[in-house]
Amino acid sequence: MFDYKNIHSEDPAVLEIIKKETRRQSEEMELIASENYVSKAVLEAMATVLTNKYSEGYIGHRYYGGNQMIDEMESLAIERAKKLFNAEHVNVQPLSGSPANAAVYMAFLKPGDKVLGLKLDHGGHLSHGHPVNFSGMLYNFTQYEVDVKTGRIDMAKVREIALREKPKMIVAGYSAYSREVEWEKFKEIADKIGAFTFADIAHTAGLIAAGEMVNPVPFFDVVTTTTHKTLRGPRGAIIMCKEKFVKLVDRAVFPGMQGGPHEHIIAAKAVAFGEALKPEFKQYAKQVMANAKTMAEEFTKLGYQVISGGTDNHLMVVDMTNKGLSGKEAESVLDRCGISVSRSTIPNDPNPPMNPSGVRFGTPAITTRGLGQEEVKKVVTWINAAIEHKEETEVLEKIREEVKEMCLKFPIPSI
Ligand SMILES: *Cc1c(COP(=O)(O)O)cnc(C)c1O
Repeated sequence: MFDYKNIHSEDPAVLEIIKKETRRQSEEMELIASENYVSKAVLEAMATVLTNKYSEGYIGHRYYGGNQMIDEMESLAIERAKKLFNAEHVNVQPLSGSPANAAVYMAFLKPGDKVLGLKLDHGGHLSHGHPVNFSGMLYNFTQYEVDVKTGRIDMAKVREIALREKPKMIVAGYSAYSREVEWEKFKEIADKIGAFTFADIAHTAGLIAAGEMVNPVPFFDVVTTTTHKTLRGPRGAIIMCKEKFVKLVDRAVFPGMQGGPHEHIIAAKAVAFGEALKPEFKQYAKQVMANAKTMAEEFTKLGYQVISGGTDNHLMVVDMTNKGLSGKEAESVLDRCGISVSRSTIPNDPNPPMNPSGVRFGTPAITTRGLGQEEVKKVVTWINAAIEHKEETEVLEKIREEVKEMCLKFPIPSI
């Protein structure tokens, strides 16, 4: 990839850290459901002179001169995203998922308005109304839940709460939910009370773009997604909406929320959208889901409690309670084996969010490396051995060596 010769001569301290992180990524296994590895082309697009440009405003209406090429780049990104998601309008400027969501609330709501979103410990996101987040501070959120027995969103309850509370907006789309979302039912409920429908597909966007999961874009009012999770682009986000909301959404992003867009990142978004439009990406998405299914089955065979009993997408939450350790302990044991995961709450978690009962596992990153179902089975046996022998340093060291060996056999694309 890059030879880094300029950082090497100008700033060895920074290069040293970059090199250590490169080594960590190449030798360790990434099972964090929100992470992925970008292609060399995406990485190259980010490291370009487009970072030098101020381009506040929109195509043909900028507040700075010299934006002809920037306009071209943004239209390319927009056209590709529209095709990918069958969207009427796309704003490619949001800096990341949370700012994109802030812009959506700003576009459709006034502070204090009532909104319905999924509870954080049931799989929702901070920006869906959690009290410590701007969303919970500025808007009056009511939260719905998953059914604790099935682990699935209880749509009858959603309907009941929506009809009672009459929120101005209903939010669907989650961070730690392993099942298909019943978008149509959400839409039907929202229509009954005249509420706006907002889908946050940050996690599943790549699977939706590949046609492997149901796409809410054609019938929801507004949809946001990050570009760096299953979509496998640079860190960032986009907002998609119906034609009639274009002005509201664009004004909320700029001048409402943001100043100058990050055009080098928009270039990288365009590259990633181009990649996602190719047939290989559909194969990738299918394999991500097949790997996740195998992983959930293997965990279940070994007596692990997978929330909702399995997965329809790229992730799963596993309750560690019956294995005698907390999510945080499991995270740190696996860290010692070179396996990165994120602790996660389980629905109605009796433990606090900093030390929750579960672990979230995801397959987007390992699938990009080329791991298939056979390797996934091996990975689960390592995870199980690490958890069963969590006090035995030699066992953990041996697993660490085996993990490293497999990782080196499946190099990440940008190294
Ligand atoms: C990851 C995520 C976000 C936030 O994205 P950032 O880029 O980290 O701000 C928003 N919503 C959902 C559902 C997410 O999973």
